[in-house]
Amino acid sequence: MSKRYDVIIVGAGHNGLVCATYLALAGYSVLVVEANERVGGAAITREFAPGYSVSACAHLLFLLHPKIVADLSLERHGLKPAATDLHTVALAADGAHLTLTADAIDGNGVSTGDRAAYPLFLNKLRRFAGVLQKTFMTRPPRLAHKSMADLTALAKLGLSLRLLGRDDMRELLRIGAINIHDVLQETFENDLLKGAMGFDAVSGGNLGPRSPNTVLTCLYRLTGQLNSKGSGISIPAGGMGAVTGSLRAGAEAAGVEIVTGTPVKRILLDRDRATGVETSDGERISGAIVVSNADPKTTFMKLVGARNIETGFARRIDNIRMQGKAAKLHLALDGPPTFRGLEQTQLGQRLVIAPSLNYVERAFDCSKYGEYSNQPTMEINIPSVHDDSLAPKGKHVLSAIIQYAPYNLRAGWDAERAAFKQLIIDKLAEYAPGIEERIIASELLTPPDIEKEFNIHGGHWHHGECSPDQFMMLRPTPGAAQYATPVAGLYLCGAGSHPGGGVLGLAGRNASTEILKREKTP
Ligand SMILES: Cc1cc2nc3c(=O)[nH]c(=O)nc-3n(C[C@H](O)[C@H](O)[C@H](O)COP(=O)(O)OP(=O)(O)OC[C@H]3O[C@@H](n4cnc5c(N)ncnc54)[C@H](O)[C@@H]3O)c2cc1C
Repeated sequence: MSKRYDVIIVGAGHNGLVCATYLALAGYSVLVVEANERVGGAAITREFAPGYSVSACAHLLFLLHPKIVADLSLERHGLKPAATDLHTVALAADGAHLTLTADAIDGNGVSTGDRAAYPLFLNKLRRFAGVLQKTFMTRPPRLAHKSMADLTALAKLGLSLRLLGRDDMRELLRIGAINIHDVLQETFENDLLKGAMGFDAVSGGNLGPRSPNTVLTCLYRLTGQLNSKGSGISIPAGGMGAVTGSLRAGAEAAGVEIVTGTPVKRILLDRDRATGVETSDGERISGAIVVSNADPKTTFMKLVGARNIETGFARRIDNIRMQGKAAKLHLALDGPPTFRGLEQTQLGQRLVIAPSLNYVERAFDCSKYGEYSNQPTMEINIPSVHDDSLAPKGKHVLSAIIQYAPYNLRAGWDAERAAFKQLIIDKLAEYAPGIEERIIASELLTPPDIEKEFNIHGGHWHHGECSPDQFMMLRPTPGAAQYATPVAGLYLCGAGSHPGGGVLGLAGRNASTEILKREKTP
């Protein structure tokens, strides 16, 4: 073994960097080993055509916890917004769009009933999301355990549910058991409004609005609004890479060593204990504790090896549902696009193509049978409107999340990538006529591309579907849901752990808290 550290972290995604910094601040010597040449995982900014850069995977910041920003002094290390509290514009092909803010709807054709119901409905969901968010900062409790920490965590969860009051508690139980389609149907009339709201619940998941669990995913996303007076959706100056750039600067200031361009081939074991890592070029690095920011399948099936773990646990890991369905489109444009009926001043908002719940459901239907959506949904932003570092003067970049693009496309992505990209551009042109003539360069990342470039098994947004069977004390699976794993000295700190995916930083923070509690101080 060439070197020895208190902690080795596999992967410099944002969660790996958060975990590393908290541990270094507590006095541990920490090495982060990253496969890619850059840090940031799925939260990066990269050039996709000469002079044109985008946030290549995650593109909107709405979940990053303020405690992490404060604890790790991210603003001092360069984090600043280019735009905050973006509105959502629910695009209509005829130009009669709706603008949704945190408490009101702007646009024509919305009934007084819908206008009145909108803030009431959102306030109700925010109260429910508040209960969920309270669990985000702590290790999920073990159900059958009698330790004080577990009992207290369960009691706190019970109490925050109880504090909702009788009516809210009943309502949460009722809607939690149905789906976002039915909940929106019984509350609103306007299709455009329901489509955009339903889209939020299925973003990044293997879900349509009629799927079970979509109220949970809707609340999960809404937690991002709880730390802000507005929508909570922002675009960082310099793109998502600036978020992880500030995390890197904070980590290094705390004494963390980071090596990039160095894939870990395996996690070294001595009997049942993790003792370090071996890199792809054969270097062995010793660590008293190993923490994995890689997804759970990569961690256990590839880096630890199925034969080194108990069969039942290996089977549960292998069964984690994590096949990505979101693709990413990047366009370099020779000028600002014009969306029919959209003021140019609104071009910098979050634009959504999901004109009705049935539209979203039908888009999802295709993906169930291994086909891409023939009428895809999109979340579009044009960050260069706010940030001129991303494109040459007067030019623009467009970044869009496209659903649904199944990981296992029946016809194969190599055969179909170009056709799907064209279909997406044609759909965009229905809303933004002439956009195709503005395109200088384009890139489409399908889930297999995301898997390859970002080292995420299945190219899945959350490192594993966010559903009740893979949530809280079941995330990623019992036996590894408290960040510690059945392999002594090996911890998880990525999106596959509680609370889940998105750029939150909380899995990294919670894992560091658990390590500080369990392991002896160096
Ligand atoms: C298309 C798409 C769009 C998204 N949009 C948004 C969005 O707008 N907003 C939002 O909040 N979230 C979004 N997300 C989700 C978000 O990007 C992720 O959930 C989050 O970045 C995960 O962070 P992480 O640190 O846990 O893991 P990752 O970012 O996946 O980092 C893990 C790191 O581990 C490294 N690694 C893996 N294996 C090894 C190995 N063997 N050796 C060394 N290093 C290794 C990887 O290279 C990577 O750097 C999106 C995701 C996708 C796929």
